Amino acid sequence: MNIVLDTHTHTLASGHAYNTMTEIIDAAVQKGLKLLAITEHAPAMPGSCKDFYFYNLKILPRFQKGLEVMFGVELNVMDYEGHVDLSEKYMECTDLRIASLHPPCIKPGTIEENTAAMLGIIHNPYIDILGHPDDGRYPLDYERVIVEAEKCGKIVELNNNSMSPLNSRTNARENDLIILDLCKKYKVPVVMATDAHASFMVGDMTQAIEVVEETGFPEELLLNDSVEKFKHFLNEGRKKSETLREAQRS
Ligand SMILES: [Zn+2]
Ligand SMILES: [Zn+2]
Repeated sequence: MNIVLDTHTHTLASGHAYNTMTEIIDAAVQKGLKLLAITEHAPAMPGSCKDFYFYNLKILPRFQKGLEVMFGVELNVMDYEGHVDLSEKYMECTDLRIASLHPPCIKPGTIEENTAAMLGIIHNPYIDILGHPDDGRYPLDYERVIVEAEKCGKIVELNNNSMSPLNSRTNARENDLIILDLCKKYKVPVVMATDAHASFMVGDMTQAIEVVEETGFPEELLLNDSVEKFKHFLNEGRKKSETLREAQRS
């Protein structure tokens, strides 16, 4: 597969990543990517940017050096109802929204609690992508999560960084195999992403590609080979989510 996009990266602004925005963009250009999302951690992550950082993203050019850049956010799930740490006003200032479970922000709960947290973010129309759901420290009822993700138009992330031996997430590879099988069964789109915290990691999806190949995951549901395809699924998901919210209101 020809990888043309990476939807999850961090810069110095996240507090525990090590390159500037310019360096991350240059790395993406060098890798031949067509689209890059820079998704800094939201404010509850120690050392990350404050709300107002996201407000000013409007000043940044969305095309740089032949690369399309989306300025997004990786939200922290804060409780077992799935509340996140950025208000709607600031989420609206971003181009892409990932939500993930992180130990500094939420303690791993029981499988019921973690699953309820995920269902909460799945029902939030602002969230586009479920970030690294493969983290074994937060056991999940994957079937419930993936079925609900399909209903609400969410994209599931296959996080390359989760499978690095240096990462503190556990059982990621085993969990990814289960997640991919369920996404195949329920026709849920998947995007591979590096979750790069340094420029050398941008666009390198070696482990993710291996898992995709092992499961024979269908190409039509894998969103990394075309910007148009990724945007199509993103927009369809947003419409689905909005329609569902409207129906619940009436
Ligand atoms: Zn994360
Ligand atoms: Zn991240």
